[in-house]
Amino acid sequence: MIKELIQGLSITFKHLLPGHSTTVQYPKVKLQPSDRFRGLHRLVPSHDRAKCVACYLCPTVCPAKCITVESAENEKGEKYPRVYQIDLLRCIFCGYCVEACPVEAIEMTGNYELANYHRDDFVFDKQRLLNTK
Ligand code: SF4
Ligand code: SF4
Repeated sequence: MIKELIQGLSITFKHLLPGHSTTVQYPKVKLQPSDRFRGLHRLVPSHDRAKCVACYLCPTVCPAKCITVESAENEKGEKYPRVYQIDLLRCIFCGYCVEACPVEAIEMTGNYELANYHRDDFVFDKQRLLNTK
């Protein structure tokens, strides 16, 4: 009994020593997410426009139904997303949209600082998604 108590306390006190903390002083200190982290989406640009070909696969697979795509054709007859929008209030960050995309036009970044004051600010349109770092 005493032995277990001492073992438990030693673990507790070990975490009080510098260098053993499991938390950081956010927002002064920010953790670097792993490469596989699924944060804010980014539309990949290609020749100054979205690489997306408006195939509708991502809104089809999205379990939260939070992607809106409206396609159009340019003068060369190529399809592009006239509207591309993600409602982050509904997104569950599953990454299915990224997996489904046949042309790798959408990816997820390490950006996890998504707090905002207004509901409308959680709806990311094409330009905002193209500007995501
Ligand atoms: S991460 Fe998942 S829920 Fe979010 S937009 Fe993509 S498919 Fe939809
Ligand atoms: S799956 Fe890719 S190409 Fe198709 S609409 Fe979504 S982002 Fe665009």
